[in-house]
Amino acid sequence: MEELRAINNYDDCIELGASVTLSEMIKTLLKHSDESVTFGAVASHLKKVASVPIRNVASWAGNIAMKCQHPDFPSDVCVLLEAAKAKVKVYDVCTGRIVTQSVFGSDGATLSHFNDKVLLSVTLPKLDDIKLKFKTFKVMPRSQNSYAYVAAAFRAGLASDEDRIENCVVVFGGLGSAFARAQQTECYLKGKQTNSMETLKNALNILSDEIKNVTLEKYEYNLALGLFYKFYLSLCDPSKLGYGISSGIGSLVRPLSKGTQTYETDPEIYPISQAMSNISSDIQASGEVQYVGDETPTTDELFCTFVLSDVANAEIKNIDYSIAKDMPGFVKIITGENFPMEVKNHSHYDGLSECLAKYCIQFAGQPVAIVIAESREQSKQIAESVKVTYKNVQKPVLSVQDAIENNSFYPNNLKPFQMGNPDVAFKNAEHVVSGEVDLGSQYHFYMENQICRAECTENGGFKLNVATQAQLWIQKTISHSFGIPSNKIEITTKRLGGGFGGKLCNSTIAGMAATLAAFVTRRPVCFHADLKTCMSTFGSRMPYFMKYKIGFNANGIVNCLSCDVYGNCGSAPRAVRELAGVQRAADSAYFCPNQLYKCYACKTNIPAPTWCRAPGSLQLNALGDIMMEHVASYLGQDPIGMKFANLFKNGQITLQGNLVTHCQIRNLYQNLMESCGIRSRQETVKSFNEKNRWKKRGLSVSPSKFNVKLTWQKYAVLVSIYAFDGSVVISHGGIECGQGINTKVAQVAACKLGVPLELITVQRTSNISAANSTSTGGSTSSEMTCASLVGCCEILNSRIEPIKARMNGKEVTWKELIAKCYAEDVDLSATYTSPTLPSQSYATYGVACAEVEYDVLTGENQILRADIMFDCGISMNPSVDIGQVEGAFVMGIGFWTTEEMKYDTNTGQLVTDSTWEYKPPTTKDIPVEFNVELLKNAPNPLGVLRTKAIGEPPICTSICVAIALKRAVEETKRDRGLNEYFPLPTPATVKALHNACELDPLSDFNLS
Ligand SMILES: Cc1cc2nc3c(=O)[nH]c(=O)nc-3n(C[C@H](O)[C@H](O)[C@H](O)COP(=O)(O)OP(=O)(O)OC[C@H]3O[C@@H](n4cnc5c(N)ncnc54)[C@H](O)[C@@H]3O)c2cc1C
Repeated sequence: MEELRAINNYDDCIELGASVTLSEMIKTLLKHSDESVTFGAVASHLKKVASVPIRNVASWAGNIAMKCQHPDFPSDVCVLLEAAKAKVKVYDVCTGRIVTQSVFGSDGATLSHFNDKVLLSVTLPKLDDIKLKFKTFKVMPRSQNSYAYVAAAFRAGLASDEDRIENCVVVFGGLGSAFARAQQTECYLKGKQTNSMETLKNALNILSDEIKNVTLEKYEYNLALGLFYKFYLSLCDPSKLGYGISSGIGSLVRPLSKGTQTYETDPEIYPISQAMSNISSDIQASGEVQYVGDETPTTDELFCTFVLSDVANAEIKNIDYSIAKDMPGFVKIITGENFPMEVKNHSHYDGLSECLAKYCIQFAGQPVAIVIAESREQSKQIAESVKVTYKNVQKPVLSVQDAIENNSFYPNNLKPFQMGNPDVAFKNAEHVVSGEVDLGSQYHFYMENQICRAECTENGGFKLNVATQAQLWIQKTISHSFGIPSNKIEITTKRLGGGFGGKLCNSTIAGMAATLAAFVTRRPVCFHADLKTCMSTFGSRMPYFMKYKIGFNANGIVNCLSCDVYGNCGSAPRAVRELAGVQRAADSAYFCPNQLYKCYACKTNIPAPTWCRAPGSLQLNALGDIMMEHVASYLGQDPIGMKFANLFKNGQITLQGNLVTHCQIRNLYQNLMESCGIRSRQETVKSFNEKNRWKKRGLSVSPSKFNVKLTWQKYAVLVSIYAFDGSVVISHGGIECGQGINTKVAQVAACKLGVPLELITVQRTSNISAANSTSTGGSTSSEMTCASLVGCCEILNSRIEPIKARMNGKEVTWKELIAKCYAEDVDLSATYTSPTLPSQSYATYGVACAEVEYDVLTGENQILRADIMFDCGISMNPSVDIGQVEGAFVMGIGFWTTEEMKYDTNTGQLVTDSTWEYKPPTTKDIPVEFNVELLKNAPNPLGVLRTKAIGEPPICTSICVAIALKRAVEETKRDRGLNEYFPLPTPATVKALHNACELDPLSDFNLS
């Protein structure tokens, strides 16, 4: 309706029709921002509501109506409109009357007056009195596209001399459904002084009483008082505030991001080492690129969806699909009970996990049935209609602590591993500290959800098009479950929309679902999981709990450590394998001559975790850094210098028993210290912290060492040259996951064959052309694929060379040469698989520095600057490799600061199973200034083509962000005499950091 889209600008107000979108509202208010004290602030706050695409379609009226329907929805719009003195015009359908009202009712909380009514328009008055103060806040788990922990808006009219409050409105969102306006506080403030400790303290006490009973958690309570304090400070004369107090007024302002990328290339070996974008980046940017789900379905294709259990630790009583069978599009339902007799009910070739639970439920989110239907939407609707009932429901064991309490462990054949003699060393240690580190999970957050298309073939086999990092494991699983030979299973994968380890062993679950559905229907079937299924069924990063004890001398030189590592291996024993990798990861960047590690595999009722970018290495490298921080804190030393003193150097022996050679870590650390001016920045941070009571900065430097072994990966490569135009096609066994493997392969082929890059195409991975290739993971797939590729090129060159030689130095083009080869019956295809290189192991080193600013009153923070210096050997492609460094570091920022997987302690259900609750970092969570440098002139003699692994290692440096944040928290605690060492809050969310500050608003919030 045109009227509902109207925007009217009157002398004293702006009127917006009910269907005006939030984006249009922002635009209008900004256009007239100089006409009202409130307009600019409301518009700025609205920019923090949802995201641009949502604001472009969402209306302010829809938002209010949603709040009416769901009173616990933390609506920013309601808070803003109420504080901006807006009036809403409402049409009562029953009486035909139109009434104009403020947003909240007379109790300052309810919206019942909008129930069953139509919102017509809202009027925002032009409040242009310069004595009017208006401020709004939104504190979120991350910097954008999130609900608010607490939103607040304050409006105060001041007397002409600005030392008295004439009227005040205090509105909150997020403090529960029964509270919005702090009416008693508003009432008290009427006529009270600004610049008055008495006013502040009384107001805080009254507000505290008002919200004490409505807020659920201490954080929200503290935050509400903190936001009020911020507002009150803004009413005061800054010259009358105590030293550093005015730092509480403003919120953190994010400037435009910037950064540098520094690297060296070697034109002698171009296009190897040449910086260039991913060869498919253009079609990715334009949207033309095709993932499995983009390929056109065949006309007879069906779709299948899992029915998921919604409890953990129970038995299935009944699965009722009586309604499902009559729903449109229904084709078939498979359960554990009616599972085809001739197929093994396994989701992995190890035979230890069921494809569909038959009796026992291990975790909430476990598949109990597969619904097959004519369309994806129908299969989802039908799956939702299936009713599963349970018996013998037990309280789930979810965390490591639960497992310890219940003595729930997998049999563990991992022997303790040690070097030196820790027992003796501890006895002789000058100092010993001990502590605990509790690290949670992380969802892989690939953009392309788990997907597989499967169809039966004429010979009793299957053809699969699947998003997987591990074709071999799917092939083995299907061969095992269906009892057919491997040569009847054809698998292709063009590329993945991200994997990060999540599509390694767990993509077999998707592969089995689609193949099983194809088997029972004899039609092509697509399984395409939604986000909730991916998050709650497929398993994420393994949570770790570590208890450490570390012995050192008065200079902080570490001599011994012992550590108990508990891995939450969830509901299937396959995750125990990750713990085996702990030994590889354990020694981090620091040398310690006497060490003992014991690993414990906890059996719990969460989905079996799976490898996730730098599994074990991320946690164990972080442990090294956390322990160093603890030691430095104990000794009262600067951790940055102390860390350097403990770094590895050539000639030392690692925990794995390797002699350290070509060690770059000290070199990197020193370079970073100098090039980033760490010492002088430490001084600047110190002086900032002295001057600002309510904003603090923290700076930390963290080194990492990622141990690489080329012992298990091998990838077949097929290179063919077409005789009629000399173009080259490559199919290899690595999987393009966005890590740029195809780009590197094309560069290496161009260099080794001596042809232009444009002549080369890399086609999809197939288990026929690249049989027996191992999974893509562990960061060395690009390297090892290129090693095979070099072998292919050498074979081809050895066949081409004699023909070229027979041309007696005659200048011929590549095309002519290849045509001649063809004419002379030269085989223009070559395949080669580089053997594993068991003797070749090396370490990838990196060091990063993060500087953060922290708002003590809210817990909000931003990374002002991050510098990373990384050793990548001779980078095959610095653009791609720096992309990996930046991406891994930002994924680490998510792990350390915003991403948290939480389970319902009664049902075991994942609570954070959508983007509403689960918050990976966004564009405004990355460092404001982000500088990455690849170490120059550092060829790796132990790697393929003198390069180094890069996909996972840089995430290990991201711990510096969490430590820098902890430093900022330490600074504010020190201001209040709280000098005790405290553990790093993990993840260091806005809420956890604020809680760690141990603020007492009623006594800590002062004017002097
Ligand atoms: C990912 C995401 C993030 C979000 N983040 C935030 C956030 O941070 N802060 C925040 O405040 N909101 C947030 N929202 C909510 C968003 O702003 C609301 O979805 C939006 O305002 C709803 O508006 P709509 O026009 O789409 O309503 P619709 O979905 O069209 O309607 C919602 C309800 O309102 C009713 N309705 C619509 N118009 C009227 C009318 N004129 N009179 C009576 N009833 C009406 C509809 O019948 C329906 O019942 C978020 C939403 C999403 C999806």
